[in-house]
Amino acid sequence: MRDHDRTPRASATRSAIDPPVPAGVGLASERTRQRLVDALRAGGIRDADVLAAIGTVPRHAFVEPGLASRAYEDVALPIGHGQTISRPSTVARMIETVSANLPAVERRRARVLEVGTGCGYQAAVLAAVFGEVISIERVRGLHETARANLRPMRLGNLRLVFGDGRLGAPTAAPFDAILVAAAGEAIPEDLLLQMRVSARLLAPIQAAAGQSLHLVERAGQETWHLTVLDAVRFVPLRAGTT
Ligand code: SAH
Repeated sequence: MRDHDRTPRASATRSAIDPPVPAGVGLASERTRQRLVDALRAGGIRDADVLAAIGTVPRHAFVEPGLASRAYEDVALPIGHGQTISRPSTVARMIETVSANLPAVERRRARVLEVGTGCGYQAAVLAAVFGEVISIERVRGLHETARANLRPMRLGNLRLVFGDGRLGAPTAAPFDAILVAAAGEAIPEDLLLQMRVSARLLAPIQAAAGQSLHLVERAGQETWHLTVLDAVRFVPLRAGTT
């Protein structure tokens, strides 16, 4: 743990979406979650919506009970099927970046696509920030785990889809923001075409030298602008379903 992770802080009111907590986590989860929010803020996350969402979504409910005690550390954790739940700082940074151009009122009605549901944690955070979220997962076992993890939270604005996210969700397009949570060699063309004009897309891209986060902004019907951001590490984006 880094030093700023240890700052004690008074507990906030109990969240309405907390599901039953696994043994060993108990009421402490609220306080440790608030410490995580403090650590993210100290680490440079400024977006109030994102910080509030991370302060509400019970990350311990998305990992196996044996790992729940580590759920509020800023670490990636295994979720089965060789996949991982992303670090909270990565989730926060990605959401902050992909929606930096959307004022609060537009976020409330924005439609957002996530590729790579995994255990469903980031999908729940997205659903707390945006009007409508569609999240696609290609591994059936994970899609079902995410469904079970998310059920107690009753997020009426989140739709989970089993399929190859490289194809996007054409019937729900256009999207105001797209987040890809797995690294491919290029940004799938279908996703570029499903962006609304002025929308942003964030995707990790795998090159020989390593991975970097790519930010795309759709400037017009036929124009996209690319900015290459920091080095990152994501699991691979794969074709098809399993
Ligand atoms: N969003 C998750 C991160 C999950 S890891 C979180 O909250 O932490 C990335 C996920 O992307 C894995 O579950 C992997 O199975 C999935 N994935 C990889 N390629 C995919 C594809 N083509 N379509 C949909 N999901 C994909």
